[in-house]
Amino acid sequence: VAAATKSLRIGLIPADGIGREVIPAARRVLEALGSDLPKLEFHDLLAGFDLFTRTGTALPSETIHVLKEECDAALFGAVSSPSRKVAGYSSPIVALRKELDLYANIRPVVAVSPNPEGKPSVDLVVVRENTECLYVKQETMTQTDSGREARATRLITERASRRIGRMAFELALARPRKKVTIIHKSNVLSVTDGLFRETVRAVPTLPEISGRFDSVTIAEQIVDSAVYRLFREPEIYDVMVAPNLYGDILSDAAAALVGSLGLVPSVNAGDSFVMGEPVHGSAPDIEGQRIANPLAAIRSAALMLRHLKYEDAANRIDTAVDHVIRDGRVLTPDLGGKSKTDEVVEAVLRRL
Ligand code: ATP
Ligand code: MG
Repeated sequence: VAAATKSLRIGLIPADGIGREVIPAARRVLEALGSDLPKLEFHDLLAGFDLFTRTGTALPSETIHVLKEECDAALFGAVSSPSRKVAGYSSPIVALRKELDLYANIRPVVAVSPNPEGKPSVDLVVVRENTECLYVKQETMTQTDSGREARATRLITERASRRIGRMAFELALARPRKKVTIIHKSNVLSVTDGLFRETVRAVPTLPEISGRFDSVTIAEQIVDSAVYRLFREPEIYDVMVAPNLYGDILSDAAAALVGSLGLVPSVNAGDSFVMGEPVHGSAPDIEGQRIANPLAAIRSAALMLRHLKYEDAANRIDTAVDHVIRDGRVLTPDLGGKSKTDEVVEAVLRRL
């Protein structure tokens, strides 16, 4: 039997702030997985606002090149957002999503139940369209007789709605409850949200799907009532799929249900690349104190692996993280503990 010689090549982009503390933590956990994974090959890559202030570029072409040509996946830390508009600067994470066509932002939100056998009270995934909606950033300002008037363009295409819809159905298919809830506001925005809703709803009927999603239940909900119900009865949701802006808001709201931002992972995914990214930002208030919670980055690594179909390795990481949270003795201050980043990583490694 030929040994699997192909290696798994992962780009590491810590970028700014605590990204530089939590990405090395995630790397240590990946390295500990041993024979569950092919040989790992890491590429350390530069990006970020700090880099921009030092060199005038936030995303070197070398980083893009290595990701495209030499990596199977990546882990991104965080970028600081300047409080004011800085000439010449634009966010490297937005550019990376575009360059690599990472059209879906996938954010599972799971509350760890105190009892290992118990069902978590919250166990859902927000699937956010990542390329259009109001994020096309086409805004104009005109002067009228009665003052200034600002407008923004909101783009919804059938193509983007269809592929995000397909991603949501695929994810639902792999989950026990197999339910997709389409989030929209087509009672008000009947053209744009109407197209999103109709297109996602039609995904299971596409000829190339040929019955693949027959076991998936479809529901839909207006975004405002979805937020209300998310807080009142989060257990009704399994996979929520939404256009960019609603998805942005919903995924932060859902993250609030499980406590610290330091726990919530995500991946940016396309058809040929996946990039894990903790949901939190660069947290300048705690940078350099070695108390950043590494669990969101570690879970992002697990999510990246799951997306690459290394299901067992991903489950091992998640189980170890669940245990550390449930055990409660080794936690960073955001979760009420007194431990340092490295101590939490070591607790996870012991469980692995
Ligand atoms: P940015 O502009 O990069 O988003 P921010 O000031 O918005 O930075 P966030 O990273 O979004 O900061 O964090 C918001 C709050 O949550 C901060 O008080 C931060 O310390 C805390 N926080 C975020 N991530 C973590 C983490 N991994 N561990 C501990 N605390 C965190
Ligand atoms: Mg922030």
